Amino acid sequence: MVCAQVQTPLVASGKTHEIAEHVYVIPDQRINVIPNIGIIVGRDGVLVVDTGMGPRNAETVLDEVKKITSKRIAYLTITHFHPEHGMGAQAFPASTTIIYPTAQKTELLEKGAAMSNQFSGVSTGIADLLKPVKIRMPNVTFSEEAEVDLGDFPVRLLHWGSSHTRGDEFVFLPKQSSIWRGRGGEPIFPHHG
Ligand SMILES: [Zn+2]
Repeated sequence: MVCAQVQTPLVASGKTHEIAEHVYVIPDQRINVIPNIGIIVGRDGVLVVDTGMGPRNAETVLDEVKKITSKRIAYLTITHFHPEHGMGAQAFPASTTIIYPTAQKTELLEKGAAMSNQFSGVSTGIADLLKPVKIRMPNVTFSEEAEVDLGDFPVRLLHWGSSHTRGDEFVFLPKQSSIWRGRGGEPIFPHHG
């Protein structure tokens, strides 16, 4: 496989928009290894879905949240353990509860460092994003399903077994009839083939 010049995966600033009631997305810009990041704003706080790769990108996410609401980020959830989805968790406030499937935590512990090294080998831009990463563990894990209460509507976090990874998560918003899945824009890596 030939690796052409790889664009450094920087989360977009100023492109966040509402896709359903109380649900916003920071779009992936169709750039490899940038996820579509979710910002779900409830009465009592915010749930963020995925961090972007490394603390620099996570800081952009935090700035985008502040443009939408002054409410605190009560929860962070991560759709799978790959670096562009969760390896910015350290930038979130200490008071933010990090919650995702137990299988994802296990997979992060087993394969997170190796995956980070693999990604860092793709480009210096990616290596620079990942160099300052300190793995932050979740506060809460669940085996199959959990419900997050943001005050005025429920958010269900679902783990239905292995698909893209062993710890994949779906985020389901029954009131908005929306579902979030975390895979996207990352076909350049062999493990996604
Ligand atoms: Zn992935």
